[in-house]
Amino acid sequence: MADCIFCRIAAHEAPATIRYEDGDAVAFDDLGRRAPLHVLVIPRRHVASLAEADAATIGAVGAAAARVARDAGYAERGYRVVTNVGPEAGQSVPHLHFHVLAGRQLGWPPG
Ligand code: 5GP
Ligand code: ZN
Repeated sequence: MADCIFCRIAAHEAPATIRYEDGDAVAFDDLGRRAPLHVLVIPRRHVASLAEADAATIGAVGAAAARVARDAGYAERGYRVVTNVGPEAGQSVPHLHFHVLAGRQLGWPPG
């Protein structure tokens, strides 16, 4: 989608610090970092949210999220993967994204 910022990042048309990419998924640093590691993992193809994603897409994004956390050295310490769906969850960009957060003690439940 031409007017979607995450589609533009996936296409290298908008700047981002990309940590990992393959044919299906792209991972890049969140601009509003909330933890020492805060990466967004998205499908290359535009999908609005988890609610509209098929299993293959969710699998590709989930596997990329685990890889990013492992490659950043957080496999043992632990990390959180979360995706917001819709307004009450606070989804602000309508292109599916998994947040990968690590590097500090994370509170539960999220606010
Ligand atoms: P949401 O609130 O939808 O769960 O998460 C959207 C995230 O995208 C936010 O954490 C926000 O900081 C991040 N974000 C929004 N616009 C951009 C952008 O242009 N570049 C990057 N790297 N992150 C963005
Ligand atoms: Zn998009």
